[in-house]
Amino acid sequence: MDNTLRQTIQSFIAENNGSSKEVPDEWVYSTCGYCAVGCGLYIGVKDGQAVTVQGNPHYPVNQGNLCIKGLYEWKVLHHPQRAKAPMVRQDGKLVVASREDALGLMVQKLSQALVSGPSAIGIYHTGQFLLEEYYALGKLAKGVLGTPNLDSNTRLCMSAAVHGYIRSFGTDGPPGCYADLDLADVIFVFGSNPAEMHPQLWRRIMYHRSQNGTKLIVADPRSTLAAEVADMHLALRPGTNVALLNSLVYVLIEENLIDPAFIETHTTGYEEMLRVVHSYPPEKAAEITGLSAEAIREAALLFGRSRSVVTLFCQGVNQSMAAADTVTLINNLHLLTGKIGTPGSAPLSLTGQASAMSNREVGGSGFLPGFRNPANPVHRQEVADFWGVPVERIPSQPRDIMQMLDMIETGELKFLWVMGTNPAVSLPNQERVRKLLDKVFLVVQDVYYPMETAVYADIFLPAAQWGEKTGTYTNSERRVSIGYKAVEPPGEAKADFEIFQDVARRLGAGEMFAWPSTEEAFAEWQRLSQDRPNDMSGMTYRRLEREGGLQWPCSSPDDPGTPRLYTDGRFNTAAETAQAYGQFNNESGCAKLWGVEYQIPPETPDEEYPFWLNTGRIIEHYHTRTKTKRVPELDVLAGEGFVEMNPADAEAMGITEGEKVRLTSRRGWIEVKAMIKNTVARGQLFLPFHFGDLDPGEEHLKQAANHLTLDWVDPISKQPIFKVASCRVNKIRGV
Ligand code: SF4
Repeated sequence: MDNTLRQTIQSFIAENNGSSKEVPDEWVYSTCGYCAVGCGLYIGVKDGQAVTVQGNPHYPVNQGNLCIKGLYEWKVLHHPQRAKAPMVRQDGKLVVASREDALGLMVQKLSQALVSGPSAIGIYHTGQFLLEEYYALGKLAKGVLGTPNLDSNTRLCMSAAVHGYIRSFGTDGPPGCYADLDLADVIFVFGSNPAEMHPQLWRRIMYHRSQNGTKLIVADPRSTLAAEVADMHLALRPGTNVALLNSLVYVLIEENLIDPAFIETHTTGYEEMLRVVHSYPPEKAAEITGLSAEAIREAALLFGRSRSVVTLFCQGVNQSMAAADTVTLINNLHLLTGKIGTPGSAPLSLTGQASAMSNREVGGSGFLPGFRNPANPVHRQEVADFWGVPVERIPSQPRDIMQMLDMIETGELKFLWVMGTNPAVSLPNQERVRKLLDKVFLVVQDVYYPMETAVYADIFLPAAQWGEKTGTYTNSERRVSIGYKAVEPPGEAKADFEIFQDVARRLGAGEMFAWPSTEEAFAEWQRLSQDRPNDMSGMTYRRLEREGGLQWPCSSPDDPGTPRLYTDGRFNTAAETAQAYGQFNNESGCAKLWGVEYQIPPETPDEEYPFWLNTGRIIEHYHTRTKTKRVPELDVLAGEGFVEMNPADAEAMGITEGEKVRLTSRRGWIEVKAMIKNTVARGQLFLPFHFGDLDPGEEHLKQAANHLTLDWVDPISKQPIFKVASCRVNKIRGV
């Protein structure tokens, strides 16, 4: 669909509120469960059913506004395909079972796998649990099972940002806040499309731009909605972020637009960085990126001469070449110019899922709670003592989902528990992924059935979702907010928190999880967070509701929270991080400047596969559509997969608008409709990744983008590089 038409339809829906005509008899305070902008809202409830939502006018993030996903969020709760009963596989089919039988079998299989050692167990989950659920799951995995195989789908979107922050600043954590966007002279959107992915943040940016004349630079190979309205669009070639960023630094230094005093006092690594940057004059970067040297110079001058700059970044960085390194280069821009820790200036990663930040904070995946480093024996001991478990049980070398797949292949990993995520659509190189899901003993815990990954499940557990449980979420600006339970989950669906407690009890560790509610689990986590960079010990559920969320660190009842980190120029760079990052060992509190060389991507277009393939998201859908395809008002806007193709390429191949085409890469093929538009340059394709292959009730289509993608990971963050692959296009009749 044409962008203008899409916007018109979306505006119409938004203006008409997206709500039912029912008048609620109760409004329940909550937070949006989709993206990590983290809009505040109320769920309208009538007779025990959610019938509408409305934006919270007092919430500082969104001031009452919601995007189309948020407006219709209530519709995800009572859908007829909500999973209501546990199932176990019998004679090749999933059949309804009692909760007792399903959980009993699960714990029996877990215990059998444990005989081979904790590494035989893998857990792969989501960015959509409550903070308290991540904490409970981390404790169960590391403190009870002792498995190093705990990862989540945040590996696919934010892992590079995490590692980039750690390498530059010593710990994870976005330094800035949304208020910086209101104050910035320049907003540099690097590898991000906030107009579609973070709509309420985009509204805020556009509003302040109209008031203050904020300049907007967008670096993106694709002409997104954000790029279309920008003052400068740097349409660089896929995979060339590093060359562009090095060259921007080259110009900043050449033009004397750096801050020598800040560099001297607050950073290390300048000389090493300089040795690399010297090789990237704009003329050379122009050859690599396809941009003009003038455009690179102009962008650098705009950045360097402005009083304040926020750099927003997302998957165009995190899922591209040298992902974690690229984050450190974005951090370099801000460190070299002293544009960090001051109002209107910061690098700011935009998180995709509502609570992915919470996962990072409490050790729901590889790290330990409170940004503790599992490679650090002192940190492992602290956590073990706090939990009352032997320190040897706490894993020191966490593994990621791609490593877990390798371990299924070798037979080392025997039991995989997948929760709130859909790897049979979302992981790269689907043919391999599906074979491996089929091989392992698989437990799937989700809110809907059917869903693609459940096809391979041996046990299925129905779970409660957003709106059906009480707990906290942290958004992209470190703001912790509360969402209260509004309605009961359907049938035998239980909150993930309760399922973790139940599994722990059956494993004989119930006393470690004997919290009467999530609030007591939050209190336990708060104690563990004390004196850590993400200290939440001053927060309470009441405060979070009364004060519209609180930004960590917040260490006492009268602490108003912390909008910006590093305001004193001191970073979290103690020697503890050196164990994970060998080159980095200082006690000075200085940030680290990194020198990074550009590398050619592992796969580039050639004669056989002549197109660059770029996968990404569109505003109507969320992840693998498990929720949004069940909202008719969203699905009608984008109900099946498509590929954006440049008009000149389409004309050369005789492809017309809406024609079904086959895309083929070295990994597999799909068939989707061609959408012919100038959003992509010649020789490039854009393919939304939301669509799977199994769509009951619709035509069966093989349209999952990840049949084509490369299962190659960033060496530092282990994040798959979805933005770089090559493929070919064929007319269906010509196949
Ligand atoms: Fe929800 Fe994000 Fe939309 Fe806000 S912008 S309503 S958090 S999906």
